[in-house]
Parts: sequence; C-alpha cells; structure tokens
Amino acid sequence: MSYDPENIFAKILRGEIPSTRVYEDDETLAFMDIMPRSDGHLLVIPKTPCRNVLDASPEQLASVMKTVQKLSQAVMKAFEADGVTIQQFNEAAGGQEVFHLHFHVLPRYEGVSMRPPGNMGDFEVIAAQADKIKAALG
Ligand code: AMP
Repeated sequence: MSYDPENIFAKILRGEIPSTRVYEDDETLAFMDIMPRSDGHLLVIPKTPCRNVLDASPEQLASVMKTVQKLSQAVMKAFEADGVTIQQFNEAAGGQEVFHLHFHVLPRYEGVSMRPPGNMGDFEVIAAQADKIKAALG
C-alpha cells in the first residue's frame, strides 16, 4: 500500500482545506476532529508522509507520540477530564478511513461513553474547545 498525497490530512497539512489547529512543531500537527466522539477530541499527525503505524519510521512514531502525550496532558487540564482514550487504526480492515498516520486523543469522564462515530460537530463549539486546549498548553 503506498501513500496517497491527496488524502485529506495531507491537504490539511498543505493548507488546502481548513482545520482547527491546536498545536504544531517541526515534526507534528494537532487539530480538532470534525466528528468529535467526545468534547475536545483531537488528532495528532506527523508532518511527513506515512499511511499508518505499519510504514511509519521510528522517528515519525517517536515525534508523534511525544505530541500525543503533550496534548493528552493538555486536554486533561483543559476539560478537567478523568482520563484520556488514545485510538489509532491501521488499514481499512483495522478501521482506518484516512490514510495518513493519526492518533485520536479523546478526553473521557467516569461513566460517560464516547459518542457514536460519524456525526459532524458544531464548528463554533469545536473552536471554543480548541481555544481551551491552546490555553492549557500555555
Ligand atoms: P480513522 O481513519 O478511522 O481514524 O477516521 C478518520 C478520522 O478523521 C475521523 O474521526 C474523522 O472524523 C476525522 N476527519 C475526517 N476528515 C476530517 C477533517 N477534514 N478535519 C478533521 N477531522 C477529520
């Protein structure tokens, strides 16, 4: 399986389609998921191409995980969450829909289930949540 540079996250990285960005460094970008399964649901991606964990380099994985940890700590603080679920899917059979490596970071609360997938979030609500995350990052 080869990397398709026309995938939607590659377009987000090139600024060809909009996204609500919360953090970036030289190697990684974090932005809000448009179909949030919990308040504050965000995605972390490498800035360089790879489909998923199966073809990622150790360097891509290391830099992405560093950002996943940073954003997990930020959402705990921003949303006073009880925990964080980190999700990651590999190839269609593994549940992957967008073929640029990404990790989901989902703030969680005791006794509260994740919302079902596939429901578009409210843009203004997501933008306000992004501001909270950015504030928690300092
Ligand atoms: P998966 O590949 O199964 O991890 O699913 C892709 C995820 O990307 C889903 O949670 C979608 O809601 C999310 N998504 C798809 N398009 C966009 C977009 N343009 N901006 C932000 N998130 C997106």
